[in-house]
Amino acid sequence: MTFQEKVNTDGKYQTIFAKVVKKHGGRLTSERKTLLHTICNMQGHFEAEDILSALKKQGHQVSLATIYRNLSLIKDAGMIRRVSLTHGDPSRMQFECTWEQQHHDHLTCIDCGKKVEFNYSAIEVLQETLAKEHGFILTGHHLELLGLCPKCQEKSVTPLTDIQTNQIAKIVRLDGGKEIISRLHDFGLYKGHLIRLIRRAPFGGPLLIEEIHSKAQVMIARKLAEYVFIQETADE
Ligand SMILES: [Zn+2]
Ligand SMILES: [Zn+2]
Ligand SMILES: [Zn+2]
Repeated sequence: MTFQEKVNTDGKYQTIFAKVVKKHGGRLTSERKTLLHTICNMQGHFEAEDILSALKKQGHQVSLATIYRNLSLIKDAGMIRRVSLTHGDPSRMQFECTWEQQHHDHLTCIDCGKKVEFNYSAIEVLQETLAKEHGFILTGHHLELLGLCPKCQEKSVTPLTDIQTNQIAKIVRLDGGKEIISRLHDFGLYKGHLIRLIRRAPFGGPLLIEEIHSKAQVMIARKLAEYVFIQETADE
């Protein structure tokens, strides 16, 4: 990755940062200026380690502790913000530059940590309305929606033949074409339904399945069960 300069941190940036530093009893040393400049020019989402390597590439020797201290000050100055509210190891905090950047919010995968940035004007307007209804003047927000990204959803999907006895699972997909799917529907197996394995016959025999909501029990051939894809659920 090459170091591309987005912003010049002389002037306005420095003045604001100097005020915050002073409030914390420090001085705007040349090391701090370098840190400010490097951090404000980081691309995308970054961690303290990324700053360390960016500094190294420019030939600067700064300790991780110094980076952490200044990250917190630069955050107080409003030039960066923490990105992740929930995901992962708290020592691996992620940041991004917000100063003079277009506002966006995040969709975060709770499994792999992947982040998608979005700016959806209807949501922005609704938040303003909501704040107003509560007598608030909105000064800022960070909306983070949590979920599973498409890749991680796919990872946790297994064929019905892999289900364990008494395990409750959700049907997420029916394969095999129109005819097979209509046979599976005849058995009461639909996408979105919850099922449980009561028992399986030995040597690749049929599976006895309970449909959770209707409590209906069906015996399904192993060959047919291969067309049903499930996801383990935490429910019930
Ligand atoms: Zn927003
Ligand atoms: Zn993911
Ligand atoms: Zn972002």
